[in-house]
Amino acid sequence: MLKRKMIKNFSWPLKIATQEIEITRLYPEKMMELPAAERGIHELDATICIGCGTCARICPNSCIEMVHYKFGSPLKNKKMQFPQIDFGRCMFCGLCVDECPVECLKMGKKVIMAGWERKDIVKGPDFLATKKFSAKEVADLEAEAKRIAAEKAAAKKAADAKKAAVAKKPGKEGEAAANGAAKKKAAAAEAKPKEGGAA
Ligand code: SF4
Ligand code: SF4
Repeated sequence: MLKRKMIKNFSWPLKIATQEIEITRLYPEKMMELPAAERGIHELDATICIGCGTCARICPNSCIEMVHYKFGSPLKNKKMQFPQIDFGRCMFCGLCVDECPVECLKMGKKVIMAGWERKDIVKGPDFLATKKFSAKEVADLEAEAKRIAAEKAAAKKAADAKKAAVAKKPGKEGEAAANGAAKKKAAAAEAKPKEGGAA
């Protein structure tokens, strides 16, 4: 019985050594091919994110926090707020991606993440952003945003001044009419005694 078991133990490795059978995956040297629908670590296009915070509000595990990041567009994202994800709590449901109104968040194909501390797997826009602006591009966009804001402020000021002028007009007309009526009354009062005197 023991002999038979020993023979089996040796014969099985010999048998599979001669065949091309994949026993273990060569991870991490060789990564297995992931299915098309794989939901990996999120990828953010910081150039189009509008900082609406919908992703943070919809997340069932409350693992998204909006944080400041300086390489987005100040034209689209005025407060420069972008998502930061706590992957220690994320269940990769993809709801945040489905609800993003500008489709700047997507589930990527990276699935490896490790760290020595809990905070190592809380990833901000710097890690998530696959697309972002350079410091020079951000400065140009900021200048453009300032120019547009100044234009809007000037237009608003002009509109307010126009409104104020229109509001004043009826008052002036009313004043003129009142003056005319007063003059007519005075003339009539002056004319009356003369008529009386003549009689
Ligand atoms: S994938 Fe799901 S759990 Fe993870 S951040 Fe998005 S909404 Fe939250
Ligand atoms: S990633 Fe999408 S949903 Fe989240 S703040 Fe940016 S635009 Fe809004």
